[in-house]
Amino acid sequence: MPEGPEVRREADAIGRVLTDKKLTETFFEPVHLKHFAHRLVGQQVVEVTTRGKALLISFQNGRVLYSHNQLYGRWVVVPKGKAPDTNRILRVALTTDTHSALLYSATDIAFMAEKDIKTHPYLRKLGPDVLSQTLSWRQIAERLCDKRFSGRSISGLYLDQSFLAGLGNYLRSEILFAAGVSPAAKPQELESAKINELARRTLMLSVRAYKSGGVTNHPDTVRALRKAGYPRSKYRFAVFGRDKSDCYRCGEKVRRVTANGRRLYLCPSCQR
Ligand SMILES: [Zn+2]
Repeated sequence: MPEGPEVRREADAIGRVLTDKKLTETFFEPVHLKHFAHRLVGQQVVEVTTRGKALLISFQNGRVLYSHNQLYGRWVVVPKGKAPDTNRILRVALTTDTHSALLYSATDIAFMAEKDIKTHPYLRKLGPDVLSQTLSWRQIAERLCDKRFSGRSISGLYLDQSFLAGLGNYLRSEILFAAGVSPAAKPQELESAKINELARRTLMLSVRAYKSGGVTNHPDTVRALRKAGYPRSKYRFAVFGRDKSDCYRCGEKVRRVTANGRRLYLCPSCQR
């Protein structure tokens, strides 16, 4: 499933071709949305943003198109008239004079008025967005110490969108490794220096994943591996997907476990 950084990059790509542009054609496959199609023609796109893993496209008329990719959904941006060769089902097409933004396969799609964003069943439960420019590591540290969260396992918190929106499975493994935190630990068991380290790494790795297109490994390690000719699949992550390989930091074998129903990778020596 794409995580916050991937969805934000999708939103950026859509925003580059749609923002401030008028729609000339629209298409909606879901029956409950078809009657919105003609109302959007001639409407200008105001902005394309994200809230966690949800993508929001706002229009001049005060309406917002909400979509959540879940497992299979995917937005694609193409020059007008150049639909990709795919077997996926087209759900939404938003077209300007020059480009189209096409949403494939997603089923969680809705139209709402701007004022209804606050009460939307998914959006209203979201915690602060890890990619919000106003979020500081101190706020994350405060949240870790909040009694709503401090008694829960960190591996569970880091998948819970009401704790922080936008985190997901690869970010969970990568952040906990970077902070040297055991996934079984609870925030209330950690010293404040460790809480602060975890909070800083949470922010740093989320932003790094956004800027780099999903690369969360330490930049020095990435540089060394790239120089040695390794492909992206080898240098992208510090631990995620690297079970039985050597930890880049200490040489111990990376281990795969299941935590909260999802796979999690850790270095048993670096994360005590
Ligand atoms: Zn290690």
